[in-house]
Amino acid sequence: MKIDINKIRNDFPILHQEVYNKPLIYFDNAATTQKPQEVINVLSHYYSKQNSNVHRGINYLSQKATTAYEESRKYIQKFINAKNSNEIVFTRGTTESINLVASSFGKKFLSEGDEIIISELEHHSNIVPWQMICKEKKATLKIIPINEKGELKLDDFEKLLNKKTKLVAVNHISNTLGTINPVKEIIKKAHEYNVAVLIDGAQAISHLKVDVQELDCDFYCFSGHKAYAPMGIGVLFGKEKFLEELPPYQGGGEMIKDVTFEKTTFNELPFKFEAGTPNVGGALAFEKALKYIENIGIQNIANYENELLQYGTNELLKIDGLRIIGTADKKASIISFLIGDIHPYDAGVIIDQFGIAVRTGHHCTQPIIDRFKIPGTVRASFAFYNTKKEIDELIKAIKKVKKMFE
Ligand code: PMP
Repeated sequence: MKIDINKIRNDFPILHQEVYNKPLIYFDNAATTQKPQEVINVLSHYYSKQNSNVHRGINYLSQKATTAYEESRKYIQKFINAKNSNEIVFTRGTTESINLVASSFGKKFLSEGDEIIISELEHHSNIVPWQMICKEKKATLKIIPINEKGELKLDDFEKLLNKKTKLVAVNHISNTLGTINPVKEIIKKAHEYNVAVLIDGAQAISHLKVDVQELDCDFYCFSGHKAYAPMGIGVLFGKEKFLEELPPYQGGGEMIKDVTFEKTTFNELPFKFEAGTPNVGGALAFEKALKYIENIGIQNIANYENELLQYGTNELLKIDGLRIIGTADKKASIISFLIGDIHPYDAGVIIDQFGIAVRTGHHCTQPIIDRFKIPGTVRASFAFYNTKKEIDELIKAIKKVKKMFE
């Protein structure tokens, strides 16, 4: 099936505006995606007709809100093919999901001398929480290096695995280089050593089919806002056997069964990990956004975005002096580049003046930038509402940037 680009673009109200008197071209999708009207409508409807606190009220609205919230959980369970809906924990986003696992898994399973493996490709969200818990527990972080193309060196990964390794945490798709990592292989290898694996799926959930049972990952984290849903809602998938064993992350309402001043017993899964009032409207809107993706078809999305990636890569490389950072064989629709010696910030500011939103800097992945010994990159990241015509406008803007610095 072909993508009906006109229909899709009509679904996203934010795309139909001018910035600096030019039509907005939004190429910052790896930072956050835009929202279709039907997702915005869910939020508006929730707050105009359904708003109520969940799980604790016997009143009509509370029961309705609770049912809708739990239906969203079940939908997300099916979307990623988790075995059970109690393996779906709602969080604020990928960052909170990773912090939850780092803290709870760390408390339960880490002790002095243990090792956690991450990679050189990670977002700060999948580095800092591990650094913090390793410091607390006197454990060590080990790093899988990458090659010049921005691919994980799997031979080196294998050498890092040993009896002291307690967990491997890697991303599914790199937000800076676009590399699609062979996570299934990584999980299989880690499991041979009895090591748990967390996948940071922030960039993957909206670009490729995620099946947590097929991957056999122990934890999978993602954010709504990177998948056409609102900010402030995200998911931690965890295998039931792990979630049952881990201690709670935060304490408060919702996550308890019984509280006295002497002792508290905790609620069952997944509520044990959902302290406080959750983002109910966000969960409902997340369900809608995933339905929107499902309606178009994730494979259709992947194919179309891949076309944009190939077209963009070819056109960018025609520009003299332009260098693409991240040339993995398997890539998602993210292109990081440098134009000669022009500082990425300078280039980004000028490109913005053409109404084109790109991102510049380290993209919360400072170790990658250090690895390539560069000051940062300009990053264009495409979604299924982008077009080749928009890429042509980016090419024109880059040529103007070059001229200004000649
Ligand atoms: N990991 C990756 C790969 C990301 O791209 C991002 C967001 N840029 C995050 C983690 C953090 O996601 P969030 O800010 O939604 O928690």
